[in-house]
Amino acid sequence: MKEQDMRLLITCKQAHALVSEGMDKQLSLGERSRLKVHLSMCKACTNFNHQMRFLRAAMHRFSADVQTQPQEKS
Ligand SMILES: [Zn+2]
Repeated sequence: MKEQDMRLLITCKQAHALVSEGMDKQLSLGERSRLKVHLSMCKACTNFNHQMRFLRAAMHRFSADVQTQPQEKS
């Protein structure tokens, strides 16, 4: 096995780190493919990824609501 193939296989810890990083910045092509390979065979990390995305979307909606909320009391 070539070293490059080995590096395609990451641990759950590394996958979690990539998912979190991907929330804040664009992952490199290599990082994205490693994460994709891991998610394709790890259900726990797939769930974690979905949860992070859901939380992030919910947080965005919440902050948008707060910002557009008309002030009832002055
Ligand atoms: Zn995993």
